[in-house]
Amino acid sequence: MPQTPPPPTARLAALFVLLCASLAVPGLTGTARAATNTVVTLGFDDGVKDQFTNARPILRAHAMHGVFYINSGQTNLTNYMTQADIAALASDGNEIGGHTVDHADLATLSSDDAKREICNDRVTLLGWGFAVKNLAYPYGSSNAAVEQIAHDCGYNTGRSVGGVVSPGSCAGCGYAETIPPADAYNMQTPDSIKADTSLTTIKGLVTGAEQHGGGWVQLVFHHVCDACTDTYSVSPSTLSDFLDWLAPRALRGTTVRTVDQVIGGAQQPPVNGPPLNPPTHGNLVQNPSLESASNGLPACFQYGGYGTNTATWTRSTDAHTGSYAQKLDVTAWTSGDRKLVTKQDANTCAPVATPGHTYNASIWYKGSWAADVPVKLTLYYRTGAGTWVYWTSGPALPATGTWTKTPAFTSPAVPAGATGLSLGLSLAGTGTVYTDDYDITDPANP
Ligand SMILES: [Zn+2]
Repeated sequence: MPQTPPPPTARLAALFVLLCASLAVPGLTGTARAATNTVVTLGFDDGVKDQFTNARPILRAHAMHGVFYINSGQTNLTNYMTQADIAALASDGNEIGGHTVDHADLATLSSDDAKREICNDRVTLLGWGFAVKNLAYPYGSSNAAVEQIAHDCGYNTGRSVGGVVSPGSCAGCGYAETIPPADAYNMQTPDSIKADTSLTTIKGLVTGAEQHGGGWVQLVFHHVCDACTDTYSVSPSTLSDFLDWLAPRALRGTTVRTVDQVIGGAQQPPVNGPPLNPPTHGNLVQNPSLESASNGLPACFQYGGYGTNTATWTRSTDAHTGSYAQKLDVTAWTSGDRKLVTKQDANTCAPVATPGHTYNASIWYKGSWAADVPVKLTLYYRTGAGTWVYWTSGPALPATGTWTKTPAFTSPAVPAGATGLSLGLSLAGTGTVYTDDYDITDPANP
């Protein structure tokens, strides 16, 4: 026979008695000592789509709120959340934080580039209607200068990654960040939660703090999905089980709060980053011959594409000029395309667009694909709101085994308000394409 729960007021009263009793008996030890004043923040970085799909329902089911750190420049792209997704998270009561326009490694950037990445991201997110007050540094990468920029861009805090005891790392560190933090612009966390981080380990990050005087445990999650190929992921079942375990710990003083709920402070006005560099003459693409690369990805380029298909990328020494080109193999195709495109960022890499101007674009290419597979020069621009959108394409190109320059292509006039340009060569079917020597030139500024 089911028991009838006590009325809510009675339950609240019982909770109050429990809390007071535990607070009033500081000498108690072990399980009898309840209140620990531990705060857990559930942080979700990068704005990836599976957070909306998988983490949102889990948070709702537990009546908990997290902080979603968004890269405005990745919003609305394939596998990332849309503005509407983020708005839904905010309306649930989650906090929206900043994470730079482009997921930049801030400590490696010039001061002006770091200001653009941090400030312009916040300006865009504020413009979308989100109350953005707190920042997470991508890769946890910051230094004193970056932290000053975070402050000057109007952020109330900046969150690093690491600095708190985690299994196998940070021996001798504290078991939690303090409240308030020792340095609000260098807030410390346990290591990121990864695919091989067990439920027991995640619980241990909380109990470790509880057993060492409490404090602030900011957990860092990325992808939330089953059978993720990404190391930085947690399965929905582990996250759900963790929150099942975490919820009743409110009775012993361990609560879940957003960063803003812990830190408070006014929302600072938007601060723009420094003006963009004026267009220089000639080819505006940086690293146009793909000679500089990291992990196989040429600097100032990114992998683009959408739809259902299987692609592999190879840094090839079969180059048109210099030592390297990029090879794309699409081995299975149902829909969409793949392409290497010049990086779609806040003009750290992306050429500045001059509204009203037309641009000449070209890429050298070769490869093999069926006659009915579209391979096209494709251009994008960034809107005044900071969103990258498809712009225009050249004609479909025939396959060729010889390095060939795309035929002369002049864009339409750049729309009013546009701030950046990007180009790539799209492969919309199975095949192999090599690309090299990307070029985009303003004929008015040759
Ligand atoms: Zn990140």
